[in-house]
Amino acid sequence: MAKDFFDEIIEYLKAEGAKHKTVALSEQTAKDFFMNRPAPAAPQKTGINEKQPKPPRRQAAPPSVTSRKPAPAPSPASKEDDFSNLDLPSLEKIAQQCTRCQLCQQRNSVVFGEGNPNADLMFIGEGPGFDEDRQGRPFVGKAGMLLTKMINAMQFSREQVYIANIVKCRPPGNRNPLPEEAETCLPFLRRQIDLVQPRVLVLLGAVPLKFLLKKTGIMRSRGHWEEYQSIRVMPTFHPAYLLRNPSAKRDTWQDLQQVMQIFGKAHKQ
Ligand code: SF4
Repeated sequence: MAKDFFDEIIEYLKAEGAKHKTVALSEQTAKDFFMNRPAPAAPQKTGINEKQPKPPRRQAAPPSVTSRKPAPAPSPASKEDDFSNLDLPSLEKIAQQCTRCQLCQQRNSVVFGEGNPNADLMFIGEGPGFDEDRQGRPFVGKAGMLLTKMINAMQFSREQVYIANIVKCRPPGNRNPLPEEAETCLPFLRRQIDLVQPRVLVLLGAVPLKFLLKKTGIMRSRGHWEEYQSIRVMPTFHPAYLLRNPSAKRDTWQDLQQVMQIFGKAHKQ
């Protein structure tokens, strides 16, 4: 089977790491990789840039919404839906029983999100697919496997980052979330971002771009820094798009390298 573009990057970085204790994708190593030349003799040192101290987290208060049993019909959001005092476990508990939009009706699982609750890097997709709905975890299907490779190629592990979606329940037939579904679910994601406080958000595809930043045109926007609540945001392609269009992986890698620069893991352009 042909090697995936990101497999090759990971193998290249592993080979570099075996040669040198710490390795970054320096300008020279990147050039060498893309030109298939031997690795340079003296790679740059790596490591996450000095971490900026995060603001103190708010003390979690007891959930303001009491648990409800799943209802056969959606029950719209109410004034009670103030998540601002909730910590991640309390927020997840509410999401797991949520019936605020019609997507509750056909789901098998609520896919809240997962990862390091103090992550510096957060990825946001559009919504759970078939595999995610079955397993209750984000990005575990084919596209998820590719996302894991992309994260590894960025010299992070899945456990080091946080992964979430615009909607927590699977849209039927993997269609895009409808505006009313996304808007109803967004308070969960906004609170997740507020609690995790990442240094960088990576938006995967047009759906998070549309609903989180209110922008259209992933082709135009990818690779260009945006901002959300003073957090740097990098829009790029969704891994599912990359599975259908492998030639776009190179552009995506350029976008991800910009993110890596923030963490001292990529060459300066
Ligand atoms: S998609 Fe979000 S708002 Fe809709 S039912 Fe699921 S958790 Fe609730």
